Amino acid sequence: MKIEFFRHNIGQDDIDRVNEVLRSIFLTTGQVVGEFEEGFAEYLGARHAIGVTSCTAALHLSLIALNIGPGDEVITTPMSFCATANAVLHAGARPVFVDVEEETGNLNADLIEAAITDRTKAILPVHLYGQMCDMKKIRALADRYRLKIIEDAAHSIESSRDGVKVGELADAACFSFYATKNITSGEGGAISTNSEPVAETLRMLRQHGINKGAADRYTKRYEHWDMPLLGWKYNMDNIQAALLIGQLRRIEDLMQQRDQNWSCYEDALQGIADVRLLKTLPGVRHARHLLTALVPPEKRDALLWGMQNRQVGVAVNYRPIHLLKYYRETYGYCEGAYPVAEDIGLRTISLPFYPSLDEATIRNVSQIFKEELH
Ligand SMILES: *Cc1c(COP(=O)(O)O)cnc(C)c1O
Repeated sequence: MKIEFFRHNIGQDDIDRVNEVLRSIFLTTGQVVGEFEEGFAEYLGARHAIGVTSCTAALHLSLIALNIGPGDEVITTPMSFCATANAVLHAGARPVFVDVEEETGNLNADLIEAAITDRTKAILPVHLYGQMCDMKKIRALADRYRLKIIEDAAHSIESSRDGVKVGELADAACFSFYATKNITSGEGGAISTNSEPVAETLRMLRQHGINKGAADRYTKRYEHWDMPLLGWKYNMDNIQAALLIGQLRRIEDLMQQRDQNWSCYEDALQGIADVRLLKTLPGVRHARHLLTALVPPEKRDALLWGMQNRQVGVAVNYRPIHLLKYYRETYGYCEGAYPVAEDIGLRTISLPFYPSLDEATIRNVSQIFKEELH
């Protein structure tokens, strides 16, 4: 039987909650979204949360709300999903990559300063696989150069580092509820911020730049609305929010199950020749989003095909962004530009990882991994 790469955790309660929305008259952004946003902000310890249609949309709107656009540079990591850098391009700005740490794959905070120019407006760190970047160091640097911080927290709703929660030191933090993320509505995203004006701008920007939401127009009497800004159509709807509310309540339980599965994998994979796991640094609460192993580059692709032939779902997170065709051709990037990210990109393989995996399956996957590697 196939061992899936990912299985979501939608249960009957979640389905019931969606049904309730479907039987109501109001499907789009309304009370259920408001309820989710409130719970999400509370979980994060943030003042505001704004529900949108994806993390890509969240990143795009955050950049716009923080006045980042044409002529500006945003420092980010090449070791991420292409959405991170694409959002910078959507905003009309230019992503400037900085290489990552060998031990964690996270943006190397010690290399950021050398990449700052007169045009740099923001830093966009990604908390890779669920491990937070060194936000204290990055915040200090951002303060010194008057830069904004937007966190790509698509992997790391649950993480903290040295007492700092995800999003706490940022101007905005962006989350994904895409199909394979820790909690999911198929597609979906959110932004957290502690700034009232930024939150207010984001609420308008997610709905064309209109100063009244659909719920206002529906629950209250019709009144004329205006459009002070040019926005996008990125608003989360009640159906998505209904799917998320129950998962948010279970988020710590789900996290605990993944943490157990992580330990199980560590145990099963340790001591295999030529295999290295990334490190969880002291002081980090790792959100345990993706379980990756690093193998010799010359063996990686054969391992990918071999495991898939044996009905085990695997993936690569990630081949570095700067080497994707569009980035190479448009910006002239080539191999050697960010050697640490490139090395991880050639070695990394992601194994099946989600709360409902059991120990026997993890041992089985690890055994197949071992056999196909050698
Ligand atoms: C999934 C992901 C995104 C994009 O999320 P969407 O909700 O699909 O737009 C962005 N950044 C990272 C690091 C991701 O893993």
